[in-house]
Amino acid sequence: MHEKSERAQRPKKSLGQHFLKDKNIASMIIETAEIKKDDVIVEIGPGKGILTFLMAELAGEVIAIEIDQGLVEELREHTSSYPNLTIVEADALRFPFERIGTKFKVVANLPYYISTQILFRLMELSKQLVSMTIMLQKEVAARIVASPNSKDYGILSIAVQFYAIPTIAFDIPPAAFYPAPEVDSTVLKIIPRERPAVSVRNENLFWAIIKSAFSHRRKTLLNSLSMTGIKKDVLERILGKAEIDPSVRPENVSMEEWGRIVDQIMEHIEDSKKITKGLKFWD
Ligand code: SAM
Repeated sequence: MHEKSERAQRPKKSLGQHFLKDKNIASMIIETAEIKKDDVIVEIGPGKGILTFLMAELAGEVIAIEIDQGLVEELREHTSSYPNLTIVEADALRFPFERIGTKFKVVANLPYYISTQILFRLMELSKQLVSMTIMLQKEVAARIVASPNSKDYGILSIAVQFYAIPTIAFDIPPAAFYPAPEVDSTVLKIIPRERPAVSVRNENLFWAIIKSAFSHRRKTLLNSLSMTGIKKDVLERILGKAEIDPSVRPENVSMEEWGRIVDQIMEHIEDSKKITKGLKFWD
């Protein structure tokens, strides 16, 4: 038993274990989440519980999903004091959030190695989410909130901003964790939108076009879009109708403009299925 807890205490790099040790920062994260007495909170990666137990004191219910069996055992030693806290031993990427059956808030100090994957998974659930308060690597947070005409703007910005409104809450330096990570972290608050930011006639096509264009982000829009197989003279007509300069780069095109391009592609190309091939933006 003693041996077990000794082992559990050693942070595992492979699981992205950087534990928050600064209690003030833990309180700031919890304030950002605006936890109310009847809230259901889902925490991903509770670790040693620095956020978990504080949240259990404030919320109606806390469901904490941790993959590390040793940490799960440590956390469960405290659950008798918190009847509203459930520790689930699971991989958050495979967890069936849909089964929670009620709307919930996510609070997570995400393991960096899967942070974007988890984010995409959570975006799929956006109808069930009240909000997400998540800590990520600072560079990833910058990409999520980026606007057009910046080097950070890309698929991740569009993927999140299409379904939600992300805002930077505050940054956290490496010294607030043990072991200290090599990068700065940022806490983001993400509020799902009632409906997508742009109404597009074919969402699959929208994501396929954006994905294809950004995989050639240094090319002009005309050249990057021609990689989809649409002929350049047709593309010139499409971009003309959508009132978009074909010589700009994908990073200069706003979400609304991508929507106009896709609607025009639908007008001009009979079989747009050939372009999408069922692609989703995270494939
Ligand atoms: N919330 C704690 C804190 O702030 O100190 C721990 C944060 S630590 C950066 C990330 C946590 O996520 C670790 O406890 C790690 O074991 C857990 N974790 C890693 N991969 C996971 C996964 N796929 N599913 C659930 N938890 C995971």
